[in-house]
Amino acid sequence: MAQTITLTGMVLSAVPIGEYDKRIVLLTKERGKVSAFARGARRPNSQLIAASNPFSFGTFEAYEGRSSYTIVKAEISNYFRELAADVEGAYYGFYFMEIADYYARENLDAVHMLKLLYQSLRALESASLDNRLVRRIFELKAMVLNGEYPNVFICLKCGKEKELPYFHVRSGGTLCENCARQVVQTRKLDKSTLYTLQYIITAKIEKLYTFKVSAEVLKDLAQIMDEYMRFYIDREFHSLRVLEENVGFARRFHS
Ligand SMILES: [Zn+2]
Repeated sequence: MAQTITLTGMVLSAVPIGEYDKRIVLLTKERGKVSAFARGARRPNSQLIAASNPFSFGTFEAYEGRSSYTIVKAEISNYFRELAADVEGAYYGFYFMEIADYYARENLDAVHMLKLLYQSLRALESASLDNRLVRRIFELKAMVLNGEYPNVFICLKCGKEKELPYFHVRSGGTLCENCARQVVQTRKLDKSTLYTLQYIITAKIEKLYTFKVSAEVLKDLAQIMDEYMRFYIDREFHSLRVLEENVGFARRFHS
């Protein structure tokens, strides 16, 4: 018999296979994103039932096959049950899983993304945090971990480091007053929004979900992230469409 290996990570997605099985995508510390087969996971008495649902975080014992892994045992430390029971929160959670899936690759280090996912799902579970803000923080930090994100620390045309009142998607970040006059489609950026962007980019993952913003800042942040992601990410997220169709506030930000 082949040896099993232990993978620590989170189930990003799961699809039924045949009558009783599931194929899951796991984001792991050891191997990055991997595809795994959970045999019998849909049988009523299977110990893999809950372990093979999205959001389940823990350790997975698996055989390594040629193109996929086969899960034989799982020890789940957090199922995020509260999140799964909250329809709105779950929509956000599925969207986060899809973004993580988009950026992850097999054998690409996923330690920070796992940490971000874990903290972000906890933030969705917390009643004191606005899910709309949690979403924008997650989106931006996921881009930061992937290495392509807006530069909001200098004017991207002249290098000036202070007074950056404009955001320009095509330039990839902030502009000073002078330089902003020479380009079209700039967006006025108030100081609180600029500071919020800077904070999300530089803060440690553990410190991300520790602040609130005004309705205006949240609206600006939402519009900036929507424009920036539309321009730099060549993919439509199915779960985002589902989220926006089902969570009422979305319309206000897109009209
Ligand atoms: Zn400038």
